[in-house]
Amino acid sequence: MPSAETEREKTAPLLRIARSKALETVREMVAGCMQCGTCTASCPNAWAMDLTPRQLWRLVNFGQEEEVLASGTLFMCSTCYTCTLRCPRNLPLTSAMAALKRLAFEHAHKTRRRAAFYRSFVDNIRSYGRVKETALMSMYFLASRDPKLPLAFTAPALRLLGKGKLHWPGRPGRGSLGRLMDAVMNREGRP
Ligand code: SF4
Ligand code: SF4
Repeated sequence: MPSAETEREKTAPLLRIARSKALETVREMVAGCMQCGTCTASCPNAWAMDLTPRQLWRLVNFGQEEEVLASGTLFMCSTCYTCTLRCPRNLPLTSAMAALKRLAFEHAHKTRRRAAFYRSFVDNIRSYGRVKETALMSMYFLASRDPKLPLAFTAPALRLLGKGKLHWPGRPGRGSLGRLMDAVMNREGRP
């Protein structure tokens, strides 16, 4: 039975190499990719990605900025480093994925919802030390700047409230996890 990746490739348009200034740094990191697919086969999250890691590196090398930065794959990467450890070309794949994530934030007008959710999730953990659902979703709605978005979540939120599964956000308590995340952000040069 053909894999989902093979099926996608059958319908994929032929690629032309485009010049993308934004992707240049990442392209240098993955220029040696020989499309062996080891990264995809090793990635624990590939099943949830709209582009597999191998496909993503292909598109980066072809300068397909729109498609790369709009991909949800960047936000499905859990930075586990498996692909980096197993790539036969020793390419810095996890760092390349992180660099793409930063680019997606810089081009947030194209990827606003995904970037907004990712940023809200990280900020939530920084503030509370764990996911605080109501605070997370409030941050997400504000960051997405889409007034219709909360409507899609009203019914499940009411059901969860009825079952006592949702709690109003309390005061943020920045414990040791907050300090740890600040240190990582500083090290990565992130705001
Ligand atoms: S494992 Fe390395 S060489 Fe193979 S497809 Fe992935 S990035 Fe390319
Ligand atoms: S670092 Fe990201 S892309 Fe690489 S294997 Fe882990 S989840 Fe997949």
